[in-house]
Amino acid sequence: MNYKDYYKILGVPKGAAEKDIKSAYRKLARKWHPDANPGKPKEAEEKFKEISEAYEVLGDTEKRRKYDALGSDWENAQRQADAQRRYRSAAQGAGQPQGDPFAGMHQGGAGGASGFSDFFDSFFSGVGRRGAGPSAPGRSPFAERGGDLETEIDLTLADAFAGGSRPVALQIDDACPRCGGTGVANNTICPQCHGTGRMIHTKKFDVNVPKGVRDGQRIRLAGQGGAGVGGGPNGDLFIVAHVKPDAKFERRGDDLYVDAPVEIYDLVLGGEARVATMTGDVSVTIPAGTQNNKLLRLGGKGMPKIKGGFGDLYVRLIGHLPSTLTPRERELYEELASLRTVGA
Ligand SMILES: [Zn+2]
Repeated sequence: MNYKDYYKILGVPKGAAEKDIKSAYRKLARKWHPDANPGKPKEAEEKFKEISEAYEVLGDTEKRRKYDALGSDWENAQRQADAQRRYRSAAQGAGQPQGDPFAGMHQGGAGGASGFSDFFDSFFSGVGRRGAGPSAPGRSPFAERGGDLETEIDLTLADAFAGGSRPVALQIDDACPRCGGTGVANNTICPQCHGTGRMIHTKKFDVNVPKGVRDGQRIRLAGQGGAGVGGGPNGDLFIVAHVKPDAKFERRGDDLYVDAPVEIYDLVLGGEARVATMTGDVSVTIPAGTQNNKLLRLGGKGMPKIKGGFGDLYVRLIGHLPSTLTPRERELYEELASLRTVGA
């Protein structure tokens, strides 16, 4: 972002009187009005816009005071404003819903909506008579609800099972708390936001994750979103839960599925198996003559349900077949096989 020398653009000295600025503007505006320059419409349009922008600032007492003060802090202001613009375009590019954190600063949205330069948008679009004042259409008295914010939280299945408080950090673009978004404090450029009126800072929240939260579920933190402007209420913060797939348990709604490898003898003869649950291993009884891949239902051992109670855990019994046999084992299997054929 480049500094704009508005005095130079209007061809007036820095201490120029209001009326001299006005007459310089009028003269230049007449000279460069696109209607008066049919031979060079592009150049005229650019010039006309530049002159209008300069007058928008120098012709307004509040904006001019801020502009004059900005020069001494320009390096910091530039760094701050550039960082904020980068942050905004990254946030927009990533499709991250930011609500409208620029409300009050950029009328009509971010990204040069004023039709003027980035320099103007960053420092002057919310200041003075055409800024956040009652003259702005539809904003009288000027009060606006803050934007909703949204972020994600990554959870393991165990996290979703346990629920509870979890910290979330979120970068938010807020009105500067020191100057209230004007960029001016005690008649000088606000030392905190360097005149931009905005602060991008990391805010930490504690999110109460409900037990049994589903993947994709949105958790609402009322009033924790973007700051309201002019006494308007704050927006909300939405946390989207992202529950990562688990290596052991497969989740279907509130039910869980888990594989339990067992010996084929336990399926055939009956026995016991150790089975993993969300709260530790348990022992289950395998009835004799259980088929391979049979599902055993353990009631209430699934995920917590949002409205109370628990889902079920289904245990899939997977018989382990030997891939190599000793000569003795082979002999016995052959004998079993012949018995089965004869006796069946
Ligand atoms: Zn400030």
